[in-house]
Amino acid sequence: MRSSLSAFTLFRPESPLRNAAGIFLLTTLFYFIGAELRLVEALSLFWPLNGVMAGVFARYAFLNRLHYYAVSYVAMLVYDAVTTSWGVASLVINLSNMVFIITVALLVLRDKQLMRKTPDPINALRLFNYCLIAALLCALLGAVGSVGIDSQTFWPLFADWFSEQFSTGVLILPCMLTVRMPERMRPLEPRLEHLFPVLALIVSVMASVVIGGAGSLAFPLPALIWCAVRYSLPVTCLLTFVTGAVEIILVANSIINIAVAAPLSTPMMFSARLGIATMAICPVMVSVSVAAINSLIQQVSLRADYDFLTHVYSRSGLYEALKREETHRHTRFLTVMLLDIDYFKNINDNYGHECGDRVLSSFARQVQEVVGEEGLVARMGGEEFAVVVNSGDAQKGFELAERIRISIANHPFTWQQQTLFITVSIGLGSGKSESWQLTDVFNKLMAEADEYLYRSKKEGRNRTRARLPDNLKMAESQDGASQV
Ligand code: GH3
Ligand code: MG
Ligand code: MG
Repeated sequence: MRSSLSAFTLFRPESPLRNAAGIFLLTTLFYFIGAELRLVEALSLFWPLNGVMAGVFARYAFLNRLHYYAVSYVAMLVYDAVTTSWGVASLVINLSNMVFIITVALLVLRDKQLMRKTPDPINALRLFNYCLIAALLCALLGAVGSVGIDSQTFWPLFADWFSEQFSTGVLILPCMLTVRMPERMRPLEPRLEHLFPVLALIVSVMASVVIGGAGSLAFPLPALIWCAVRYSLPVTCLLTFVTGAVEIILVANSIINIAVAAPLSTPMMFSARLGIATMAICPVMVSVSVAAINSLIQQVSLRADYDFLTHVYSRSGLYEALKREETHRHTRFLTVMLLDIDYFKNINDNYGHECGDRVLSSFARQVQEVVGEEGLVARMGGEEFAVVVNSGDAQKGFELAERIRISIANHPFTWQQQTLFITVSIGLGSGKSESWQLTDVFNKLMAEADEYLYRSKKEGRNRTRARLPDNLKMAESQDGASQV
């Protein structure tokens, strides 16, 4: 199902005949639909052809060739020749259709070329402007062309053409540019609440019919925004288009009566008040969704603060925590420890990546346990961790580092009935810091810790190294622990 659905495309760059036939058929089909909607006068009430074809040409850049446009034009002429007696006027009227189609297609394609990095942004506001330009050009030509076959004069015709082309374009084009074959057929979820927005839309259109008046046209707006929040972009575009088209058709047939009081003979103020109220709800709904987005962003950044595997701070989370500490005004003596598990690669190689992951999380837990609530533990990347403590002096910092090192060495890790002895090498950096310089001092101490970590590795691993007075260095443990 999946492959047959998503593999189907009407137009392909390598099949010009198929493309030409497709354009001819689509043009004829939508010409037919538009012509069927020509209820009273020669001008159609709702003319989807131009919007649809402009969307087709804009979507498939390779169709943007003179001969393909010509195929569409010829299809229109043929349809007119068979169904009307417009004669030469048909040439001009259909040329005005082409003006709309080509103008929109070229403008959208130009946008696509300019914004190569983001391939599919339909910028609603731009599209709105493009429809405006295209509708003006099209209406100029169309009104000139239809003066001959219509009893009306130029300006009313122009207004008619323009308003129709503009509104239809704005309704159809977002749809045409976003609609796609469903990639997989998701089984319809039976949950009723998924249908609430669309039910609200139907009810609000029905309310427009019952209440009538100019304001009633705004009634579906909140339901549409609800759809926008709940459904995907293509579905929202489709629903907006259908709603707009239905409203236009209902108004044209006086089923929604915007001029005179409708079935309930509602006074004009009633409709106006309701219309204004429905419009006023929309900004609120948008702002509610913005609030929801903000809270999501907050959740995401909270997640970024912690390392997924080990649940200690991530590198960025550690910086955030230090920045928060900067607001507490007191001087402190910091010890920054950089811990690197010894021969960790061997664990991955000998016992597998999953075992390596378990070791990392158990290691982090162990370190956090020794450090307690006072210090910050962070995974800086791979099997490298940092600990920041307000140690009071360098010696206390060194002692804590040793407690961590010994605790790790004394707690072997069990993996599938095997005992793995893990050791860690530690480098220290320590110094005084005013509260406001915490992150700067941290960076300096990290560099120092990194240097001493390197020494600790070089001197045989499973040891702590720091810039310390000689008597303390004597006290360093060098028990050359078992290695994996
Ligand atoms: P040394 O004693 O010199 O530190 O040796 P080492 O093997 O620990 O050092 P090295 O930095 O070469 O190896 C680190 C390894 O950690 C390499 C990488 O495959 C592994 N690693 C990094 N991140 C992860 C992780 O998230 N999970 C697992 N399982 N392994 C990781
Ligand atoms: Mg290592
Ligand atoms: Mg390493």
